Amino acid sequence: MTTLAMPEPNAVVLSRRAEIVAALRAIVPGEGVIADERGMRPYESDGLTAYAQLPMVVVLPETTAQVAAILQYCHANGIRVVPRGAGTSLSGGALPLADGVLLSMMKFNRVLDIDFANRAAVVQPGVTNLGITRAVEHAGFYYAPDPSSQIACSIGGNVAENSGGVHCLKYGLTANNVLGVELVTIEGEIVRLGGKHLDAEGYDLLGVIVGSEGLLGVVTEVTVRLLRAPESARAVLIGFHSSEAAGQCVAEIIAAGIIPGGMEMMDRPAIHAAEDFVHAGYPRDAEALMIVELDGPPVEVAHLIERVEAIALKNGAFECRISTSDAERLTFWAGRKAAFPAVGRISPDYYCMDGTIPRRELPKVLARMRELSEHYGLGCANVFHAGDGNLHPLILYDANIPGELEKAEAFGADILRLCVEVGGVLTGEHGVGVEKRDLMPEMFAEADLDQQIRLKCAFDQDHLLNPGKVFPNLHRCAELGRMHVHAGATRFPDLPRF
Ligand SMILES: Cc1cc2nc3c(=O)[nH]c(=O)nc-3n(C[C@H](O)[C@H](O)[C@H](O)COP(=O)(O)OP(=O)(O)OC[C@H]3O[C@@H](n4cnc5c(N)ncnc54)[C@H](O)[C@@H]3O)c2cc1C
Repeated sequence: MTTLAMPEPNAVVLSRRAEIVAALRAIVPGEGVIADERGMRPYESDGLTAYAQLPMVVVLPETTAQVAAILQYCHANGIRVVPRGAGTSLSGGALPLADGVLLSMMKFNRVLDIDFANRAAVVQPGVTNLGITRAVEHAGFYYAPDPSSQIACSIGGNVAENSGGVHCLKYGLTANNVLGVELVTIEGEIVRLGGKHLDAEGYDLLGVIVGSEGLLGVVTEVTVRLLRAPESARAVLIGFHSSEAAGQCVAEIIAAGIIPGGMEMMDRPAIHAAEDFVHAGYPRDAEALMIVELDGPPVEVAHLIERVEAIALKNGAFECRISTSDAERLTFWAGRKAAFPAVGRISPDYYCMDGTIPRRELPKVLARMRELSEHYGLGCANVFHAGDGNLHPLILYDANIPGELEKAEAFGADILRLCVEVGGVLTGEHGVGVEKRDLMPEMFAEADLDQQIRLKCAFDQDHLLNPGKVFPNLHRCAELGRMHVHAGATRFPDLPRF
């Protein structure tokens, strides 16, 4: 069903399928290899369900040695590999390839070591994000980055996407909370980067791996930072009659030196969808709704709430409700956290975009999005991490109506172009994957992209790890920088371009 241009399947690899499946079964015996169509169906797409593709074969290793042997074999035989965690990516990062091995890491599901003295935990990559907090909360600790998908998404996927969440404004993204990884390269070499200690020797390769979307290696172990759970937390629900006023309120809170634990915003369609679904008590007459959470010692929280309330009222807030219990605070959040499924109830399909803009541009971007919505004839609900300018427009469409998916894609591309135009960036927290791959040139010059591909080449010369993702075209590593087209003749016609 994919309309995307992906690397041409390798006919030689496909003709050797039976032999490849047998070789993988020798490495991962028992039920670790799935080769029948029915068994592979659940793996045909990730959270970006607009695109689907059956892989050549699915393999579920249980040990790092097995991962190393699989990658070594694939490397020696020129076989492409797509790593996969829980498959919740919204940018198609785990979309399989027809001639590729889909390497699921979900059997790596153990917490290996909890070290409160060093405020660190060592976990396998298939442990869910929330699973880490569940393992340490009895002692008053937690893992801070909290994607809305945290009940399902894996920490390995979080590392690959540098995932964020409501609390990342104050506590940082995955990159700020991962201390080390064990990684297997496409050649099958096992590498350790960082660890419980606070600084790593040599170049900061950990920084290169976090956010590398499965293109540089397969993560087989993750060491994360643990934080003490805040002493107390309270949330303020703030309603505005205009998004301009809400945008100004966000800017003034940050300018006042207040860094809330979380600061989220929703527009009218998202407010209504969430309220109908969760009944969180959101004001239906609001054009924009903010949830601001303050955490820390109770005295500090009380003081900051007063300041936030004053800024909100000064900017014309017509409703300012402060949570009086933890249950009420969680109710405020329930609607926001369920905003995606809530929108799923009002439209057969939706396409979730993810871009980042300077906070002050929010009203302008929202106004332009309304124009685009009219232009394409498709609805759009907006939820955003207002504090860090990360937008999540949800474009409503019906995949069963011919042409609507293409319209949604074009609408989404225009939104991302708009983000770049106002000084923002193409990605927020969902990665590039296939979703934003072809828009990369809107943001990066060819020289920038070549430089990024050189980094990829340093890890994976043959482009076997997750090809077709992130980069709009491939360059053979050896010829990088020397490719040019003369009089319409391409020098390396066999290079895949998509
Ligand atoms: C309802 C919903 C809400 C969401 N909310 C948020 C949110 O608030 N914030 C946010 O950031 N994201 C959010 N997401 C997106 C998604 O959950 C994250 O990107 C998450 O990190 C993906 O993890 P995963 O385990 O599902 O990875 P997958 O989808 O399986 O894979 C994602 C990418 O990681 C790579 N990968 C996975 N495991 C490994 C590994 N062990 N080694 C190397 N590469 C690997 C894959 O190749 C792929 O490129 C949401 C998704 C949904 C469906």
